[in-house]
Amino acid sequence: MTSKGITVLGATGSIGESTLSVLALHPDRYHVVALTAQSNTSRLAEQCKQHNARYAVISDQDKAAELRVALAALNCRSEVLAGRQALCDVACLPESEVVMAAIVGAAGLESTLRTVQSGKHLLLANKESMVIAGELFRQEAAKHGTTIIPVDSEHNALFQVLPKGFEQGLEQAGVEKLLLTASGGPFLHTRRQDLQHITPEQACDHPNWDMGRKISVDSATLINKGLEVIEARWLFNARPDQIEVVIHPQSIVHSMVAYRDGSVLAQLGMPDMRTPIAHALAWPERIESGVARLNFADLQSLEFHQPDLERFPGLRLAFQVLEAGGNAAVIFNAANEIAVDAFLHRRIGFLQIPSVVANAMDKCKQGKITGLDEVLEFDRQTREVTRQIVDSLT
Ligand code: NAD
Ligand code: MG
Repeated sequence: MTSKGITVLGATGSIGESTLSVLALHPDRYHVVALTAQSNTSRLAEQCKQHNARYAVISDQDKAAELRVALAALNCRSEVLAGRQALCDVACLPESEVVMAAIVGAAGLESTLRTVQSGKHLLLANKESMVIAGELFRQEAAKHGTTIIPVDSEHNALFQVLPKGFEQGLEQAGVEKLLLTASGGPFLHTRRQDLQHITPEQACDHPNWDMGRKISVDSATLINKGLEVIEARWLFNARPDQIEVVIHPQSIVHSMVAYRDGSVLAQLGMPDMRTPIAHALAWPERIESGVARLNFADLQSLEFHQPDLERFPGLRLAFQVLEAGGNAAVIFNAANEIAVDAFLHRRIGFLQIPSVVANAMDKCKQGKITGLDEVLEFDRQTREVTRQIVDSLT
């Protein structure tokens, strides 16, 4: 077996750490080429040492010297690269065949897109980039023959249960619906009046999944599911009416495909991201992930019900975004990133997150997207508008 070179963008995050733990189980199969982080130099240095990375990349330019010191202290010889451009540079290194895109938010857009343009295997965790530039990703992937394997557990599940050739069209493949499951987050049963007082700590305490702070808040508002609906639209070339969200509090069924003949195929497993990561890494083969096995005798019950769009208006907004097309997803995502950050800094309340996003969607100009420059410009404008909305509330 030849060893594959892999680069992990966002190595110090939750997905990055899980990816490295799967890689550590397969030292003959994979070797690490580059690892990146925004600012956590000590953790990045430890990871580079452990995985013998050729490049250690820090996107905050001012932290380059600190990273060199941290690497030297560990007697690690990884070459230091720094700055935003370095993220794009390591996304297309000839030594790596596979890139795990695990930066959080639109900050991952350029490096993830660069991976697609380099024709490498892209393992996509950075859902926000697909949400805001889905059409561009599809075009570039087709042009460069890039395989995009979803890591998001729902999309990875769908990828596993869709038939071969689904890219030609879901209808042709006999698919009626993509059923995205959602745990419902920590406040599934919380009354609306009580949602008002939710703290960042409560919002980040997800019942089933251990994740980064931004996606944890998104899961609590169900805006994560909204982003995932849009992600599914682009990954699977689905129409809005072909995507449905089903609340499933146990997070055992990771998503389902309903076929024309009445069959429904599901992928099940423990709620542990190492399963979709291992699947994406080895596809079309299967490798050990280190994840505990599902024990059916231990499962009390599997419940399914409809989402409550009154208490979680963020999900409704996402369906409106899908219908609107154009730059609506860029606005939705950028406004949400600013609102979540404001919530995490205790500047706005939990219920204000979807209302700030809705307000930004009203205020920002509708427009078309024809390339990366427009995406970046609409993203920038939306952030400015949303910051003003947040300022007016505090
Ligand atoms: P995280 O916050 O734990 O980690 C984010 C990583 O990105 C870190 O390595 C950080 O250094 C880096 N980063 C952050 N901001 C950056 C910037 N401005 N420039 C460069 N690098 C930056 O996030 P996470 O939970 O691992 O999520 C990563 C992505 O995977 C997100 O898009 C998320 O939606 C998606 N995802 C995560 C999970 C999960 O279980 N955590 C599940 C499904 C999808
Ligand atoms: Mg998900």
